[in-house]
Amino acid sequence: MDEFSLIKRYFDVQPSSANVVLGIGDDTAILDQQTGQQLLVTTDTLVAGVHFPVDSSPESIGYKALSVNLSDIAAMGGRPAWYTLALTLPEADDCWLRGFSAALHALARRYDISLIGGDTTRGPLAISITMLGTVPTGEAVTRSGAEVGDSVFVTDTMGDAALALYCMQNEIDLDPAVMTQLRTSLDRPVARVEEGLCLRDYASAMIDISDGLAADLGHVLASSGVAAELEASRLPLSQAVRHAAAEAQMNDDTLLQLVTTGGDDYELCAVVPQTGVPGLQSTWPPALAPLTQIGTIRQGTGMILRSASGSHIELAANGYRHFT
Ligand code: ADP
Ligand code: MG
Repeated sequence: MDEFSLIKRYFDVQPSSANVVLGIGDDTAILDQQTGQQLLVTTDTLVAGVHFPVDSSPESIGYKALSVNLSDIAAMGGRPAWYTLALTLPEADDCWLRGFSAALHALARRYDISLIGGDTTRGPLAISITMLGTVPTGEAVTRSGAEVGDSVFVTDTMGDAALALYCMQNEIDLDPAVMTQLRTSLDRPVARVEEGLCLRDYASAMIDISDGLAADLGHVLASSGVAAELEASRLPLSQAVRHAAAEAQMNDDTLLQLVTTGGDDYELCAVVPQTGVPGLQSTWPPALAPLTQIGTIRQGTGMILRSASGSHIELAANGYRHFT
C-alpha cells in the first residue's frame, strides 16, 4: 500500500462542514470564513513512548491525539471546526491504521469537525494534529485576565491519569474495574468543549490542564501577574483515585503532590470574577462535567495549597517539562 492509497483508504472522508470548500486531495484545503468570527489555531504532537505508552492501542492513540487538540480549543472558549493530520509511521500496518482512523473519525463526528488535509511520512511513530476553531470576535478567553478576588474553578476530577500511570509504573495491584477507569482517563481524555463554551461567558482567564494543575494554573498566574490560594480539601478526586491511593498506601501529601503535578488531566481550569459566580453556577448545565471551586486569586506570585489542618504547602509550578 503506497502513501496515496493509504490516505484514500483511511483518511479521505467527506467533510461534515459546509465551510469546507475543498478538503483532502489538492495542494491545500480551502475554507470559507465566517464574518464576526476569529480563527483559533493550535498544534499538538504525540510521540510514542513520550506522550503515550508504546503498548497503547491504535484506537487510544487516535482518540488522545484528537482530544488534546480539542482541549486547547476548549480552553480558549472556542468551537472546534477543522483539523489536519501529520502522521509518521514506521510501517503501513492495516490493522493499526484501521483502529487509529476509526477512533479519529468517530471522535471527529461527535464534535462535528472535519479532517481537511495532512501529511504522511515513514519514521518513528508520531502523530501531529493542527486544529482550527472559531470564536466570536474578541471573546476568546486567554491566560492573562485573572484578577485579585476571582474564583478558581476546575471541571470534573483531577489526578485520574496520574494515578493510572503511578499504579502501572509501581505495579500496584488494583481492582480491574478501578484500573480500567483510571486507564480510560489516561488513554481517552474527554475534551471539555461544551464546558469551555459555557465558561467563555464568565471566565476572566482559562487554561486546560495538560501538565498538572500546578504548572498550568502557574501559567495563568504568571501571565496575569497574580497569586492563588487553593484549598486541598476542595480538589475534586474521583472514587477511583481515592481507592488507588489507598491501595498504594499513599499518604495525603504524596497524593496531593501527584494530583497537582501529574499531567494528562485535560480538564479546564477557569478563573471567574466574583460577580459572575452565582450566574455561572445557577446556569451550569447538569449534563456537563461538574464544576468545582478550588480557590481564590490573591495578590503576589505563586500558589499556596491550604490543607484542612490549616498548614500551607507552596506549590511549585513544575509540571512535566521536555528538555530538562
Ligand atoms: P503535497 O505533496 O501537495 O503536500 P501530499 O501528497 O502530501 O500533498 O498529500 C496529498 C493530499 O492528501 C493533500 O490534500 C494532503 O492534505 C492529504 N493528506 C496527506 N496525508 C494525510 C493524512 N495523514 N490525513 C489526511 N490527509 C492527508
Ligand atoms: Mg505533503
